[in-house]
Amino acid sequence: MIEANRIPRLRLVGVAKSSAAYELRDFLQRSVVAFDWIELQSDADCQRELGVSSLAKARLPVVKLPDGTRLEEPTVRELANRLGWVTQPRFKEYDVSIYGAGPAGLSAAVYGASEGLRTVLIERHAIGGQAASSSLIENYMGFPGGISGAELCERGRQQAVAFGVEILMMREGVQAEFLNGHIVVDLADGSTLIAKTNICATGVEWRRLGLPNEAGYLGRGFYYGAGMSEAPLCRNEHVFVVGGANSAGQAAMYLTEYAAKVTMLVRGPTFKGTMSSYLYNRILTHPKIEVRFNAEVAELTGDNGLARIALTDLQSKTTDWVDASRLFVCIGGAPNTEWAKDTPIIRDASGFLITGPDLLENGQWPSCWPLKRQPHHLETSVPGSFAVGDVRAGSVKRLATAVGEGGMAITFVHKHLREAA
Ligand SMILES: Cc1cc2nc3c(=O)[nH]c(=O)nc-3n(C[C@H](O)[C@H](O)[C@H](O)COP(=O)(O)OP(=O)(O)OC[C@H]3O[C@@H](n4cnc5c(N)ncnc54)[C@H](O)[C@@H]3O)c2cc1C
Repeated sequence: MIEANRIPRLRLVGVAKSSAAYELRDFLQRSVVAFDWIELQSDADCQRELGVSSLAKARLPVVKLPDGTRLEEPTVRELANRLGWVTQPRFKEYDVSIYGAGPAGLSAAVYGASEGLRTVLIERHAIGGQAASSSLIENYMGFPGGISGAELCERGRQQAVAFGVEILMMREGVQAEFLNGHIVVDLADGSTLIAKTNICATGVEWRRLGLPNEAGYLGRGFYYGAGMSEAPLCRNEHVFVVGGANSAGQAAMYLTEYAAKVTMLVRGPTFKGTMSSYLYNRILTHPKIEVRFNAEVAELTGDNGLARIALTDLQSKTTDWVDASRLFVCIGGAPNTEWAKDTPIIRDASGFLITGPDLLENGQWPSCWPLKRQPHHLETSVPGSFAVGDVRAGSVKRLATAVGEGGMAITFVHKHLREAA
């Protein structure tokens, strides 16, 4: 593993099935920060680890920083702040603002700054986006043995910083306005960011199962994503993964390193057409993996976190209950484009951003398109505003595509800046 953010090892202390502790573990894992998870089981543990006489009195979770500071019940943002990652913009205006620090945004940032553009990268959560939740990416060129997504993206972050990219973490673009050839974005913290061009690389977010009581189990046995931070806690357990695409397959494979058994729950009758063949061939022959096709999770239950799930067989229409204390849901994504809803940026019916030639409808460019020239590839219906990676309508949802589009968008940013000068 690369030297993780040059932060010495942290200690994260808490109890099992705590959603607050899960959020911190997930964030640290994605950010490639080394940490020890100390799970308290009794008042005696609490006394020994924290000097507090009982679990009931402790304000958990607690993060112990290497300098001796102790953060009690911190939010992810407070932790990021203490790590020195939440900073103020240095400039009033940028050449390019990039929203989303997944592979597409990181790639755009590297190319933008390396080509002399004043570049700012805005990320609302952790660096790496979806890729940071992948245990092992095996099909990205140049890594014959595979590489963890978090590590790959941490390398991208370091490269971007070395070229002078300014990264604003824990910031979220919530509303955009296009004024006099500039994009003015309101951030969730009330501040505003101005740039001559922008690149939307906000990717997708896990689609929800939509079970009535799932919110109560989130981070308490029920997880969206591949469970990178949770896998080591699944030792000798029987765990469940929902989904039939690559992300679910990778999650299942990774979990087998720790769990006694992994059951995959797949709605369809086969993996063909949804998962890469190299992966499903391994899954179908893996001694620890059981696959239930035509299976749908119908209900969750449990008093102290998830304990049992109801499974419906979509063929026989029968439902049975099984013991399940951990369920990882990896069922594809919906785009993060809420911010675009009050702008002239055109989205498709599912919310993905439409770009370039795809904006042409019945031989006509959209009426909101104000220029004589046609939109560049990757350019949205607003001149100078681009979309790359998974958030773009019709894009191939792959790491290499996201990275490629990020770099390519910078070429069009240069063109737009030249035309606008
Ligand atoms: C578990 C898993 C395994 C995968 N394995 C592979 C693989 O082996 N090979 C492969 O080719 N692909 C794989 N993929 C797919 C690949 O990771 C994605 O295609 C890629 O991450 C898309 O990159 P992106 O930058 O477009 O979007 P994302 O990775 O989704 O990143 C978007 C980023 O934008 C941020 N964001 C969202 N909204 C805002 C906002 N308003 N303001 C600021 N920031 C915002 C998000 O927090 C996120 O960090 C995998 C995906 C998953 C989930």
